[in-house]
Amino acid sequence: QTSTKKEEKGKNIQVVIRCRPFSLAEHKASSANVVDCDPVKKEVTIRTSGPGNEKTPKKYTFDMVFGPSAKQIDVYKSVVYPILDEVIMGYNCTIFAYGQTGTGKTFTMEGERSQKEQYTWEEDPLAGVIPRTLHQIFERLASQGAEFSVKVSLLEIYNEELFDLLSPTSDVSERLQMFDDPRNKRGVIIKGLEEISVHNKDEVYQILERGAAKRTTAATLMNAYSSRSHSVFSITIHMKETTLDGEELVKIGKLNLVDLAGSENIGRSGAVDKRAREAGNINQSLLTLGRVITSLVERAPHVPYRESKLTRILQDSLGGRTKTSIIATISPASVNFEETISTLDYAYRAK
Ligand code: ADP
Ligand code: MG
Repeated sequence: QTSTKKEEKGKNIQVVIRCRPFSLAEHKASSANVVDCDPVKKEVTIRTSGPGNEKTPKKYTFDMVFGPSAKQIDVYKSVVYPILDEVIMGYNCTIFAYGQTGTGKTFTMEGERSQKEQYTWEEDPLAGVIPRTLHQIFERLASQGAEFSVKVSLLEIYNEELFDLLSPTSDVSERLQMFDDPRNKRGVIIKGLEEISVHNKDEVYQILERGAAKRTTAATLMNAYSSRSHSVFSITIHMKETTLDGEELVKIGKLNLVDLAGSENIGRSGAVDKRAREAGNINQSLLTLGRVITSLVERAPHVPYRESKLTRILQDSLGGRTKTSIIATISPASVNFEETISTLDYAYRAK
């Protein structure tokens, strides 16, 4: 009985860990390696290092574990590919990157460009989830001969205010207003949010570059913007199908790819860290997301979607018949021990 329930849970919310390689700074500081990843057993072990400081190592099991040698393509194939199947069937899904600043959330979701310009965007081994997903959508749907259209939007949340990173007209400092959708109980309307039609994979990169340029401006205007903001990249696919008896059906699937604010201002218990509170730096959306996920996992009667902007926006893509993957990113170095434990605990609770 317990195992059936677990299987059901595992189906809808999946939690994976990705540990990045040592950074140059961690090498220079001669920080010890305290994390071991076992992708086969799906285990992460973390231990304290240094003489007189030995504690029993802590071991966690997740749905998947990616160690420092895992490549972008590995994460894409194992985590994103199955979710994309659901989206193409017409469901709404969400993939989150959660973790301490500097552990690889943006590397995972957006990726980077290789130094040597020998690759096109889509074949660059450093390309992350967003470009790979868009590329695959066009490849897969076009090869099926389907009639379809793809729209994307890029919304960021900073201090519970909404910004449109793709709007060609307004400047970044313009806040967007959000309302409940009178026609959809689980939906919201974000007034003026630009939804851009993407016609082929080559347009994707111009769009992503436009977002990146706006993000740079936002970073000059808002304190610690890149670590405190949540970035929600949404892809909506409309697909037309003709049934055997000639009836036309439209399926709509949505995928949200979310690069969350740095987890460092949330304490281990899920409560607000004292320092963060003193700095007036309570991240309501990050806190509420944790509560929403816990409520979904525990099948609580009430899910507090309404308590933050992020969870209101994602309400139609979290819970119910949707699939959610959380990619929790960690550092292997002892200097980040406390934050890594707190990320592992948070991720484990979501499982
Ligand atoms: P975050 O978005 O969580 O703050 P970043 O994605 O910006 O972190 O990553 C911080 C640094 O670590 C970047 O220089 C990035 O290139 C590097 N990095 C992160 N993850 C990996 C990885 N899995 N493999 C190689 N480099 C990585
Ligand atoms: Mg980042």
